[in-house]
Formats: sequence, C-alpha cells, structure tokens
Amino acid sequence: MKLDFYNYSIDGLKQLLVNSGFKAYNADQLFKWVYEMNITKAEEMTNISKDLRTFVEENFDFSSLELVTKQESSSGTNKFLFKLKDGIIIESVLMEHDYGLSLCVTSQAGCSMGCSFCASGLINKQRDLTTAELVNQIISVQKINSVKISHIVVMGTGEPFDNYDNVMNFIRVINYKHGLQIGSRHITVSTCGIVPKIYDFAKEEIKANLAISLHAPNNELRNRLMKINKVYPIHDVIEASKDYFEITKRRVTFEYILLKGVNDEIHHANELSDLIRGINCYVNLIPYNPVNEFGYEKTDERRAVKFYQQLIKRGINVTLRKEMGSDIDAACGQLRLKNLK
Ligand code: SAH
Repeated sequence: MKLDFYNYSIDGLKQLLVNSGFKAYNADQLFKWVYEMNITKAEEMTNISKDLRTFVEENFDFSSLELVTKQESSSGTNKFLFKLKDGIIIESVLMEHDYGLSLCVTSQAGCSMGCSFCASGLINKQRDLTTAELVNQIISVQKINSVKISHIVVMGTGEPFDNYDNVMNFIRVINYKHGLQIGSRHITVSTCGIVPKIYDFAKEEIKANLAISLHAPNNELRNRLMKINKVYPIHDVIEASKDYFEITKRRVTFEYILLKGVNDEIHHANELSDLIRGINCYVNLIPYNPVNEFGYEKTDERRAVKFYQQLIKRGINVTLRKEMGSDIDAACGQLRLKNLK
C-alpha cells in the first residue's frame, strides 16, 4: 500500500526520507512541489534526483477527496460533501469574511461527545480522520473553487481533542512555510472541554487559537447540556483556559449557544460574567440552529441582544455571531446529518 503524502509533517517526511537513504533537505523540495506548486507527478519534479523521483512515484499516494456535492447559500457560504476512501461522507464549510476565506473542517466521522443539542452526536464516532483527510479538505476546496483559504477553524463534526495527534499534525502541515502557509493566528481549534488536552495544546510549539464550547455558566446546567462536563467540570475547564492564556498570551474564545428558556436568562449572563471575570477572553454568542430531534429552540433576537448587552455592561468582551449558511444546513452542528437520510 502506498503512503499518503499528506499525512506527513516536514519532520515526519525528513525522517522517512533519511531512513530510505535520501537527504533531509529533499523533504523541503517535495513540500515545495506539492504544496506551493501543486505538482504531484514525480516526473515533473525537475530538481530532484532520478532515484528520488522513482521513490516518490512508487511510494506516495497523492489522491484527494472525492466531491459528492457542493451547495451554495445566499450568504456566500459553500458546503462541500466529500466521500472518503472507505465510503464515509464528511463535510467542510467555506465562509467568506471581510478578512478572507475561512474553512470549517471536520475532524472525526461522527462524534461521541454526545452534547444534547448537537446533531453531530446523533451519529456516534465511526473513526478519527487522518491528517491527510484533514489537509485534503483544504486542498480540495481550494482546487474546486480556485481560491486560497486564509483561515481554518476546526469546528466541523467531531471533537478535535479526541483526535489530538492527527489534528496537531495537520496544524504542522498547514502552518509550515513550504506547506499551506496558514498562520497560527489564523487557525482555531474548538473543544467541548477535554481538560488535559487543553494543557497539552498550550504547550505546543505552534500556538493556534483556542475556542471552548462553554454553553452554560455552572455545572448543573452544563451537565445537562454536555455530558463531558461530568468528566471535566466547568471550573477545571476555566482553570485550563487560564493556563492556556498564561503560556500562549492568546485570548481564549468561549462559545455560548443561546437556547431559549434554557441558558439565556439575564441571571445566566450575570453568572457567566462572574465565572470568566479577569480572564483574557471573549464570548462568542451563537444563535442556535434547531435540530428537530432535540426540541431546543433558538433564542429570539431581542432576547439575544439583551443577553449580549448584559455581558457588555459587566465588562465582558462579547460578539453576537450572525448565522451563516443556515439555508443550506451548513450552520454549526448541522453538518452531514441530513444528507444521510
Ligand atoms: N467538538 C468541538 C467542535 C465542533 S462543534 C466543540 O464542541 O467545540 C462547533 C461548535 O458548534 C461548538 O461550540 C458546538 O457546541 C456548536 N454547535 C453544535 N450544535 C449546534 C447547533 N445546533 N447550533 C449552533 N451551534 C452548535
């Protein structure tokens, strides 16, 4: 079986090449051909030896993802459905912002975190995505739309910290100067709060942004919404986020979905502001995209604005996110499910 080229970070590739009798610098040459020049045919790699060309030809697989469908929403959001080699279908969502193009990538097929509001959890985790499958989501979308993606959010289906090694390796590939050249400040990983991995993430050489799905200001409510909170309670998550800031000096994002009558009262806003006071962070209030199976409802706009204003009054940095792509089911937590029915 051939080796998937896109699984290799520069260090991994150097090691493989050296072990196979080539030089470490050959790895940079291959990275430049593949990622900078989009050349994957060994015979076109003119500055490498014949032996290395043969090695590349015989050993590497450069195939990308099979596109199943692409949907465009009125807001300019594009949803891509890809088929993996074993038939699993995943989604990636491309969003247009004034600062560039960002791609929301999927990190696992299905998810076993079981958040009570999230459609992804309706399908249990089938498997982790490989580094190559993560990288290929970017390469494929860039190719299909003839664009250069500037920002990556690991916020699609799956829990990235439950697939930690592959996600970190993916970040190394896309951040590398001869890889996809996406700056660490342009990469955001979102977690439901797997505390030990938050500590690990802070210590990584590449400092990417961290978003934490909080969604509730106390254990009682968070236990109901997110079962992971029973393993890693809210105060441990908050402590870990402080550590992340101490080490990286990067501001943490707390995501908070507004669920009507559940977590959107003014007293929740007060409790939330007490919880995160003094942390260098901002809160991203997310409109809920209702999932039929669960019965939660979306907070109406007037109420959402009140919640937002209350946080501002209490000195919290906060944004109220607008919905993107809800008309094509590409909004958060909606990925993939409907296409399987
Ligand atoms: N597992 C990671 C990343 C994937 S989910 C995490 O939990 O952060 C990305 C974000 O979408 C999370 O904040 C998640 O809670 C939120 N989300 C899930 N379902 C949603 C829905 N139906 N509407 C709005 N946001 C949702």
